Amino acid sequence: MAAETVDTAGLHDWITRFGAAVAEKREWLTELDSAIGDADHGANMARGMSAVSEKLASSAPAAADDLLKTAGMTLVSSVGGASGPLYGTFFLRMGMAAGAVQELDAPALAAALRAGLEGIVARGKAEPGDKTLLDAMSPAVDAFDAALAGGGDLAEAAKNAAVAAATGRDATLPLVARKGRASYLGERSAGHLDPGAASTALLFESLDATIAAG
Ligand code: ADP
Ligand code: MG
Repeated sequence: MAAETVDTAGLHDWITRFGAAVAEKREWLTELDSAIGDADHGANMARGMSAVSEKLASSAPAAADDLLKTAGMTLVSSVGGASGPLYGTFFLRMGMAAGAVQELDAPALAAALRAGLEGIVARGKAEPGDKTLLDAMSPAVDAFDAALAGGGDLAEAAKNAAVAAATGRDATLPLVARKGRASYLGERSAGHLDPGAASTALLFESLDATIAAG
């Protein structure tokens, strides 16, 4: 039977998987950013997540909030692009919502993900449809909640969130960017996937893999 909670080691595993995924897809993320940005999203995410992994390897916190906050602060301080503060805020707010616990059950993880999403909205002021990473994250968090509300377990929620994030990423293709560097291109930003939505799909794919493995 699949686990009904994710503990601090599980959250660490998620972060490690996300780091490996952005490192593996680094060229692709940069290619996406070269079409509508400044060709650094792959490098930004790979550098940031590698700094996070190093930091956590030197002092792995025992509590969920410490782990998530350490990841968030490391991202904010190691990535110069927009994505560093945005993903950093996501993990920081997740940590604040999680609190000093050793494990999160499905509703607690849902609440933490929602808090992370709200932190990104507060920081970046983007709305759904602006062609940003929110277009993958917002449907993912909604799908996570909907699965639980429908009686689904943690594994089903994580799976549905990963599928929704990938669908949201793909749905950025025709959009005209209204936030971030891509917005400077106006109508010419249409016809390209948003790089941040692509990395966010990897974030939820990694969470699903962690839950499925647990
Ligand atoms: P930069 O744009 O500074 O070069 P990155 O290339 O690392 O930083 O990240 C770009 C991504 O950040 C975009 O594809 C978009 O998804 C996301 N992004 C940019 N601005 C915002 C914002 N205000 N709100 C949410 N996401 C944003
Ligand atoms: Mg960029």
